[in-house]
Amino acid sequence: MSKPFYITTPVYYMNGAPHIGHAYTTVAADVLARFKKLQEEEVFFSTGADEHGLKIQRKAKEAGKEPQEFVDENVARFQELWRKLDIDYTKFARTTDPAHKQAVQKVLQDLHERGIIYKGFYEGRYCVGCERFKTDDELADGKCREHNMIPELLKEETYLMKMAAAQKELLEKIESNALHITPEKYKTEMLSFLRSENLQDVSISRKHVSWGIPLPFDESHTTYVWVDAFLSYLTVLGWSGDKNTLPAEWPVDAQIIGKDILRVHATIWPILLMHLGVPTPKLLLAHGHILSGGKKMSKTLGNVISADEMLEKFGVDGTRYILMSAGTFGDDLDLTMERMTEKYNADLANGLGNLVSRVLKLASQLKAPNSKLPTKQFPKNFLDLLNDYKLDEGLKYIWNIVSEDNKYIEETKPWELVKNDKAKFEEVIQKLLKDIALIAHLLQPFLPETSRKIETALQAGAVEPLFQRI
Ligand SMILES: [Zn+2]
Repeated sequence: MSKPFYITTPVYYMNGAPHIGHAYTTVAADVLARFKKLQEEEVFFSTGADEHGLKIQRKAKEAGKEPQEFVDENVARFQELWRKLDIDYTKFARTTDPAHKQAVQKVLQDLHERGIIYKGFYEGRYCVGCERFKTDDELADGKCREHNMIPELLKEETYLMKMAAAQKELLEKIESNALHITPEKYKTEMLSFLRSENLQDVSISRKHVSWGIPLPFDESHTTYVWVDAFLSYLTVLGWSGDKNTLPAEWPVDAQIIGKDILRVHATIWPILLMHLGVPTPKLLLAHGHILSGGKKMSKTLGNVISADEMLEKFGVDGTRYILMSAGTFGDDLDLTMERMTEKYNADLANGLGNLVSRVLKLASQLKAPNSKLPTKQFPKNFLDLLNDYKLDEGLKYIWNIVSEDNKYIEETKPWELVKNDKAKFEEVIQKLLKDIALIAHLLQPFLPETSRKIETALQAGAVEPLFQRI
């Protein structure tokens, strides 16, 4: 039996409701998971929640809630959004899961016994937003670049995980693509970082944070984020923490992450696995940030676009389409409501919707419309794009057929042919029906509901409007 294809999103930090960036990552992972399933591969697709840490502890307190109650509520909000966005994940990982905590403690015990985790001091600038100490090059004007706040200066007892000894091997893995980082620019960025900087040992525990997993060898400390969150990629598969019995799905084939968490995923995470003698991920697939009107979304700027707002306006497949077609996968994307509405009307209501309804209307004048799909194979060019993780180009490939066909209708004028050249009319409409069947097939990973609607319409010979103009 071949190994199932294992794909993950990050485990998202449960300090609030999901935002558009979470939706983007998760839809992209869902598209790839569905694409793999259509190639008759067994797929395990995990998403989940990172639930521990000081920020959550503080936020829960502000809300007058117990941390567990607070994270339960946020987990429910994420799961509800994934349901609305038609995300077909296999399992939702939670770091508060008792079996996960047990596995993490087992790993900590093992690493401590082997001296890989040791007690020391850490003095540095700790950003609560990032939940870690920041190096000088990660600060701008003394502030965390991600969170725009001055990290707290902390000196405290902590347990650290050794990093330096594994740096050379890690560098080789990334150079040789044994740990593949894509798009290429992110690989280049990681390589130059690893060639120029010496990795510092990583603080993996805090002494005065109760909302975490107690270290089994020193219960005055808790761990969260690194060892905790990363290991959820293994425990979600049912892994017990025993490095000699790995799940059948391991190693993970593709991890989709935002570029802001690339560095930790390309250093701390693989080195943790290397310490355990567990194979590292095959691929880290990084994407850019989502901006609005050229700026980072923020409440103060009033330019926040929520996934719920998009769902309300564009529906599930409209939202999935707009997110996946918004720009080159890997680059920063810039969304505004105006541009998204324009795109929705042009590509979905006018482009695809119009094509399908026009052709089906014309086909009703045929004696025997051929609604059989000629092939269940994806064309090679399309396969190449998706196997290369060029999701936006996969959509462009489909929309190229849509616009070519709309042009073909304008040129051949079938409404005239039906009166004076029945044979030609038949030929034109059969070609268009074949194309629409192909479009429905290609849309499956991206817009599953629309794909089903088109296939049903082809059988029935009639269609309700797929997308209403807005
Ligand atoms: Zn930060």
